[in-house]
Amino acid sequence: MSPQTLTILGATGSIGTSTLDVVARHPERFRVHALSAHANVKELARLCRQFRPRVAVISDAEREAELRSALSGLDITILSGEAGLCEAASDAAVDTVMAAIVGAAGLAPTMAAIEQGKRVLLANKEALVMSGGLFMEAVERHGATLLPIDSEHNAIFQCLPRAGAGVGESGVTRILLTASGGPFRTTPASELEHVGPDQACAHPNWAMGRKISVDSATLMNKGLELIEACWLFATTPEHVQVHVHPESIIHSMVEYRDGSVLAQLGSPDMRTPIANALAWPERIEAGVAPLDLFELASFHFERPDLERFPALRLAAEAFRAGGTAPAILNAVNEVAVDAFLGGRIGFTRIAGLVDEALAELAPRPADSIEAVMACDGRAREWAMNRLNAAENAS
Ligand code: NAD
Ligand code: MG
Repeated sequence: MSPQTLTILGATGSIGTSTLDVVARHPERFRVHALSAHANVKELARLCRQFRPRVAVISDAEREAELRSALSGLDITILSGEAGLCEAASDAAVDTVMAAIVGAAGLAPTMAAIEQGKRVLLANKEALVMSGGLFMEAVERHGATLLPIDSEHNAIFQCLPRAGAGVGESGVTRILLTASGGPFRTTPASELEHVGPDQACAHPNWAMGRKISVDSATLMNKGLELIEACWLFATTPEHVQVHVHPESIIHSMVEYRDGSVLAQLGSPDMRTPIANALAWPERIEAGVAPLDLFELASFHFERPDLERFPALRLAAEAFRAGGTAPAILNAVNEVAVDAFLGGRIGFTRIAGLVDEALAELAPRPADSIEAVMACDGRAREWAMNRLNAAENAS
């Protein structure tokens, strides 16, 4: 069997690093074709020395010269910018693309991989949330294989009767999407206004990048995942019920007509869903400690509190509104999270800004990727103006 050739977009991130950890355990199975990073030249160069890809991409084109000098003497082609990411994702030599860039920046290279019919391992949920139907249609049209990396969606994928199955067929009635509840699950509403970035990023169960950590704290992550589940499993928010499960051991469940509920369990370690998707339909060792249920002893479930965490409700509303509404939700959330991490706004203002955006910006038909990207740009501009106006007024 010849090795599977991989491009890892976002190789220096949390998912990228976990992917490379699994890859390094199976040198006979995987060969790295390309690695990308946005700005961290030093870390990208270190990974290139270890994994010897043919191509390295630095998406911040201004750092290309720096990367060139860091990799001098190695036989590695250096690409930069969005065009470089798209080239590395669509190269004929590549079988599989790990889409692990954070945010809307990952949409174009992920679509480039889909258009070449690649096997696409999707961590970059924002890309799917933004483009929804267009993304799924492209997967179908180009015969790409889409495998979910998000732990919940990977769990659902594992619990469905077959790949590509959705709710409403094969006796599947509902998806039970689990959520940890984030670091502020028990924080009173009156204190949420004052929590800072470091508290928001201190997730109780998962070590992740800062953007998704803040999303987990606001429950926007669960909102994005609700939309992601609706597209991946051809359903609507009415058939996806969020269950807060603070232990993060059950990664999600699928309910069947006969009353059966299938769950996927595991330690909260992204190497499990990554290994599942990398080797699918086979199973490989992932370096994850076996689950000790005696040690865990008990599981808990709660309903999400939509008063304290309105982001989850906003995401469901954006999905129902359709068109470019989810792209607006995503873009304004990205700007707001950035502003929160930079100390410009308080925690509760993140969902507040998204709420205002959905009320003020009329969604348009999401009939092309260009229309979605234009909407993303307009929503970002709206959010920046709103933030600047608030600062000038105070
Ligand atoms: P991270 O911040 O740790 O890494 C992000 C990666 O994307 C880095 O390699 C960075 O260089 C690159 N990047 C950042 N901005 C970019 C830009 N503008 N253009 C090109 N590349 C850029 O993030 P992460 O936690 O690894 O998350 C990556 C994606 O996976 C996100 O969409 C996240 O929602 C999803 N995800 C992450 C986890 C997790 O456990 N970390 C779990 C499920 C889903
Ligand atoms: Mg998840």
